[in-house]
Amino acid sequence: MSTQESQANQFDMTRPLPVVQPWSEAFWEGAREGKLLLQHCKSCGAMIFYPRKFCPECWSAEIGWKEASGRATIYTFSTAYDMVEPRFWTDIPYTIAYVDLKEGPRMMTRIVECAPADIKIGMEVEVVFHKLDDKFFLPYFRPVAK
Ligand SMILES: [Zn+2]
Repeated sequence: MSTQESQANQFDMTRPLPVVQPWSEAFWEGAREGKLLLQHCKSCGAMIFYPRKFCPECWSAEIGWKEASGRATIYTFSTAYDMVEPRFWTDIPYTIAYVDLKEGPRMMTRIVECAPADIKIGMEVEVVFHKLDDKFFLPYFRPVAK
């Protein structure tokens, strides 16, 4: 048994799951179907992420949903090689990033299917859904094939 495995036995290794709110339910349903859904304000036209009850631009409650293109560019990123919460030890190295969606909102995500050394700010990426369990599929991003 490795040192990491014996240490892992001392911790709760259960993965944290998203907390679904009434106003975010459609987002998770969309993700299960492979769709990246963004909220859309019917009053001012703002595209909104993360899901909310009110538009952050004009405070309207008239909010609908639109499917995003799934395309984005990397705004910034950080790769974890060590010193992360025990529940994520099996994932390292992994890269957390903020990406700017083509529709405007900035989203925190992971960059996958790319060696950490090859990830660059400004890189074009596309959404790919990562299955956590039967209910939750997380929107991660991978480099766009050239
Ligand atoms: Zn608005």
